[in-house]
Amino acid sequence: MHFTAKATPMRILAIVLTLLILAPAMAQDRYLIDWDAAGEESLQHLVELIKINTSNPPGNETQAANYLKAVLAAEGIDSKLYALDAERANLVARIKGNGSKRPILIMGHTDVVGVQTEQWNEEPFGGLRKDGWVYGRGSLDDKDNVTAGLMLMLLLERNDVELDRDIIFLAEAGEEGTPDVGINFMVEHHWDAIAAEYCLAEGGGGVSEDGRVNVFSVQTTEKMIRRATLVARGTAGHGSVPRVDNAVALLARAVAKADAWQTDMRLNDTTRAYFERLATVSSPDDAFRYLNVENPDETQSIQQHFLENYPYHYSILRTSVVPTVIEAGFRKNVIPSEASAMLDIRMLPDEDVGGFYEQLAEVIDDQRIEIVPERIYRPAAPPSGIDNAMFESLERVANRMYPEAIVLPTMSTGGTDMAQVRAKGVPAYGIGPTRSVAERNSGNGAHGDNERVAEDAFVDFVRFVWMTVIDIAAAK
Ligand SMILES: [Zn+2]
Repeated sequence: MHFTAKATPMRILAIVLTLLILAPAMAQDRYLIDWDAAGEESLQHLVELIKINTSNPPGNETQAANYLKAVLAAEGIDSKLYALDAERANLVARIKGNGSKRPILIMGHTDVVGVQTEQWNEEPFGGLRKDGWVYGRGSLDDKDNVTAGLMLMLLLERNDVELDRDIIFLAEAGEEGTPDVGINFMVEHHWDAIAAEYCLAEGGGGVSEDGRVNVFSVQTTEKMIRRATLVARGTAGHGSVPRVDNAVALLARAVAKADAWQTDMRLNDTTRAYFERLATVSSPDDAFRYLNVENPDETQSIQQHFLENYPYHYSILRTSVVPTVIEAGFRKNVIPSEASAMLDIRMLPDEDVGGFYEQLAEVIDDQRIEIVPERIYRPAAPPSGIDNAMFESLERVANRMYPEAIVLPTMSTGGTDMAQVRAKGVPAYGIGPTRSVAERNSGNGAHGDNERVAEDAFVDFVRFVWMTVIDIAAAK
């Protein structure tokens, strides 16, 4: 176990007592892993994967899949590549259990978003290890999860773990905007290869403050990306002659109305549990807000507080509408006949998509504005439950590794490939390495310049995945 907290005698005593009370012998204690060695091995695989440039586009994920295939094969673990595009293969490996329970799917994506190299202090595909950090694109998104899945398979095989269930490892291509070659291909054409009772993937993890992990978040649902373009059309003409149907002005008014629209607020099982649990570790003022967000007398001022101080909390309460791109005009003395604006709309998981666009049209209230929905590439999916064996295992292991942390189910405002898995009826849970609040607020995160992961937090995460899988899948 790794403690970064200041190890005062009282704190150590508290932790030991908590462990004794909460965590009697767990199944994973049967398998003794040398985590110094396994941690170093994990770090080396992470570094090697970062060095394989899988920026999407173009992806070239087959190179990462081949790396994984070779590492698995060296230990006698079979794997198979599934490719819609030969350069963009997905890899699946399976370790068999006795079949008394249904499989667990461990998923990580091998592609990464591109980089602006000149903005980085370190080489983004160098895999540099420095001062306890691993730098590089993918170190947090999502080669950490890929490596944890790889190490899980190696450790299960080496330790001859007796399993009640098959463990399936999917290293998928195309998560960053091109799921047609990745999860969509696997779900639509090779579902048999990955069908499972539960799935673990990216999107959560510990949050530490002053060296102490006080929150462990598990992503249980996400908003749906349902963007739309507003198109305004009017009469083109000379810039010296005003017109009532100036497309630029029509568009500007429509965008302003869409932006100012406070859409309906509502909670779901995930966000309700999120606020209730968060309240238990918050200041009295914050706790009051979290517990009264549905109180009709308080909700408006609470929502305004969230909007101004914690926009994530405002976003998870509702379908959000955010203007992001405006295109209009090409010459300063020409009124263009058309102008358009992108609205980045993120819908609650249960939103009625068509009904929402109708509401938007009513808010804009101008027949000259057309609403053009963007193509949908991730399906709607219900939140994954927090009352099943997998969530219980995640909580048990989190309580053991981070005795001072609360476990928070979260809804992410961004999208992941778990949506496709959940849409097939498989509860999916997003986890990841612990990061400090300061690090989360920095530009060093997923998609940021200088993306990096702390070595000790990463190794703890590999261990977390191992312990969770042993907890839910090892034969008793
Ligand atoms: Zn990702």
